[in-house]
Amino acid sequence: MFEHLEKYAGDPIFGLNEAFHRDVHPQKVNLTIGLYYDNAGCIPVLSSVRTAEQRRAQEPEPRTYLPMEGLAPYREAVQKLVFGAQHQALQAGRVATIQSVGGTGALKVGADFLHLAYPDSQIWISDPAWDNHHSIFQGAGVPTHSYAYYDPATKSLRFDQMLAELRELPPKSFVLLHPCCHNPTGVDLSPEQWLQLIPVLAEQELIPFLDMAYQGFGAGLDEDAFAVRAMADAGLVFLVANSFSKNLSLYGERCGGLSVVCATRDEADGVLGQLKAVVRRIYSSPPAHGGHITSAVLNDPQLYAAWVQEVAGMRERIAFVRKQTHEQLSAKLPSYDSSYFVKQTGMFTYTGLSSRQLLALRERHGVYIIDSGRISVPGLNTRNIAYFTDAMADVLS
Ligand code: PMP
Repeated sequence: MFEHLEKYAGDPIFGLNEAFHRDVHPQKVNLTIGLYYDNAGCIPVLSSVRTAEQRRAQEPEPRTYLPMEGLAPYREAVQKLVFGAQHQALQAGRVATIQSVGGTGALKVGADFLHLAYPDSQIWISDPAWDNHHSIFQGAGVPTHSYAYYDPATKSLRFDQMLAELRELPPKSFVLLHPCCHNPTGVDLSPEQWLQLIPVLAEQELIPFLDMAYQGFGAGLDEDAFAVRAMADAGLVFLVANSFSKNLSLYGERCGGLSVVCATRDEADGVLGQLKAVVRRIYSSPPAHGGHITSAVLNDPQLYAAWVQEVAGMRERIAFVRKQTHEQLSAKLPSYDSSYFVKQTGMFTYTGLSSRQLLALRERHGVYIIDSGRISVPGLNTRNIAYFTDAMADVLS
């Protein structure tokens, strides 16, 4: 009955990650998967999360369903974190927010919702993209296209071309944008560039969908939300997906949020109802454990303050590793411009290494990087940077 179906090729990133675990190289380095590792190479359990979990374990509650839209205090905390506590869009009740199944779940619910609202619209996604963006929107029946984003020659943004292409889109087209820490390139718009882009989005009546999977990993929790807040200030109607996978290190608990910024409170009420209807027919209600833990950390002033420090610690470690890598590469291979390591931000860096160089890194040195040349920077630490930069110098010279 199902023989006609194509075999699923698997996710190339997960596949390479498995190959890494099978490799017996004594100094192997895993720079494939987008997970934050601490300096010891471990995925951290944040102390704020641990305290929230201990408190909850002491007072077990029945494991009932959460509402379709998720926990009310969770949703409020998402709004404050994403928009800033005092934002006038929140005070005006113009934002409809649900607790989502990670950032991916927020994108899926948002994609189904947009397709329902504008069945003929299509979405434009950065080139290159996080591959799942295309899959999620295609899966929701929304055709996908690319807009110019990254220039391999300069390892930076093709901003003018991006603007020119967005100016040509039909009204009510959807545009997927990363407010910070672009995956896979690490290249972001500056605040000035966002302020240039926003009027273009408004004039063309485009509907932005912001995907913020790494809030706090770029310049800071508030700084990374600049684009979100600037769009809300400008009165745009748009969507924001946010994820707690990285910044709370809660990957498998599947915690995120979807917010739709509307023109009025009435519109937001109607949108919330439609989001609930979308949730009901996909998974009915979000996971409770992660929801309670996230809500506890974000709503308890002491845990929140501790968490802000922990996010700063992760962000600073990434910046330190980037700087070290750049310095060591500059010393070992002066002719090679490795400044992109410090110019790009967040978890990822696009190296521009060729397939031959990537293969040599893997086969000669046990250094695993995905085929696009994207590095997940937190795979580096003080024990392996020197080894990694030696390996890079070897394949680049
Ligand atoms: N968007 C982007 C750009 C991502 O990199 C990721 C995580 N890899 C997600 C969304 C999904 O986040 P989550 O793991 O919370 O589903």
